[in-house]
Amino acid sequence: MTERDNDGFLDCLAARNAGEDEFLEAVRSVHRDIAPVLDANEAYREAAILERLSEPDRIISFRVTWQDDDGAIRVNRGWRVQHSSAIGPYKGGLRFAPSVNQSVLKFLAFEQTFKNALTGLPMGSAKGGADFDPRGRSEGEVMRFCQAFMQELYRHIGPNTDIPAGDINVGEREIGFLFGQYKKITNTFSGAMTGKGLEYGGAPMRPEATGFGLAYFVDRMLEEHDRSIEGRAIALSGAGNVAMHAARKALELGGRPVTLSNSDGFLHAESAFTSDDLDLIERSEARLEALADRLDATWHGGDKPWGVECDIALPCATQNELDADDARALVGNGVVAVAEGANMPCTADAIECFQSSDVIFGPAKAANAGGVALSGLEMSQNAAFQSGDREHLGERLKAIMCRIHDRCLEHCGEGDVVDYARGANIAGFRKVADAMLSFGVS
Ligand code: GLU
Repeated sequence: MTERDNDGFLDCLAARNAGEDEFLEAVRSVHRDIAPVLDANEAYREAAILERLSEPDRIISFRVTWQDDDGAIRVNRGWRVQHSSAIGPYKGGLRFAPSVNQSVLKFLAFEQTFKNALTGLPMGSAKGGADFDPRGRSEGEVMRFCQAFMQELYRHIGPNTDIPAGDINVGEREIGFLFGQYKKITNTFSGAMTGKGLEYGGAPMRPEATGFGLAYFVDRMLEEHDRSIEGRAIALSGAGNVAMHAARKALELGGRPVTLSNSDGFLHAESAFTSDDLDLIERSEARLEALADRLDATWHGGDKPWGVECDIALPCATQNELDADDARALVGNGVVAVAEGANMPCTADAIECFQSSDVIFGPAKAANAGGVALSGLEMSQNAAFQSGDREHLGERLKAIMCRIHDRCLEHCGEGDVVDYARGANIAGFRKVADAMLSFGVS
């Protein structure tokens, strides 16, 4: 791309997506990394691959009308962003949160394109959700919301078309309500969703997969840099599915998980949480702050965990939760590696700080791909009308995470510290771009 073409692309991108900051940031960062690939490849440039990949295939938005427990009628907005079906059917999670909007979903669907391609499984990319806040809602309200949401979504999905799964606030319970409604409306039983319960087509290991995969990825990153997870203090944020399973697997690999957090503060166990501690946290209905006394830990209300002394940081809560100040604090405390369990938890400034300080950085699209990878295995299991074997799926997950790591290495360029973000962007882009070239202009 000439400088003029570059400027033209970025100007057009900004004009077309005005105000969609998350999406713009994601496309710009991929654009920076793949610029040399575009320069060297006339076919990609002539086929306008990057321009086409910067525009979702389609965005579906719809009204969701449901009734609360008092009989009042409520209205929310739902979306499905179907980003790319170049290498497989649309695939990606659903998120319910008041902060959900089109820009966030477009950004997540764009990122999912590279993540899914990196797994090596035939999955295109999508993301969806609603601006529904499940906090304080009864189970009946959540069920009615999910059913009303599916009443619209069902016509756009299917096992060979688009296969949604969970994401923030959409777990096994919500998948049950959504899938049950899909099955009822369409009168089909198919693998149109993943993350399902084991009784009705789900895959063993799916709940653990993102967190376990993250720990495997970190282990492999450290090994690549002649280091080990053994004995390392690991600060994690979040206390949900991803953080808890990452903490468990890290512990099993010899690491020392020292923090977990929620939106009100963090719990710090200086000598590390034990597996009994993690059991207690998972089993307890109480919030983290109420558990400090029952564990050998201290509660820090109103703070994030990034000020504690640690060797590894795993942000697993939500996007933009780790900013440049947090990154500087971590670097000051000697952090060696950071890997993203959540999607885009580190701001662009924070990533720059890590990379310029030679901290090994694992971007979400590689480090947290274990969840969608296991979803891919659930899809094959469903398509073959078979059930999955836990041990076998665990081994496949580990192998996939190692392969993702190695794909990043192939494309990361020179440097003492591997640039995983660059490697992931280039590897993911090439796979999707090559498929798009095969289809001609479409
Ligand atoms: N929400 C997860 C992700 O961000 C999983 C998506 C899926 O399994 O389709 O990758």
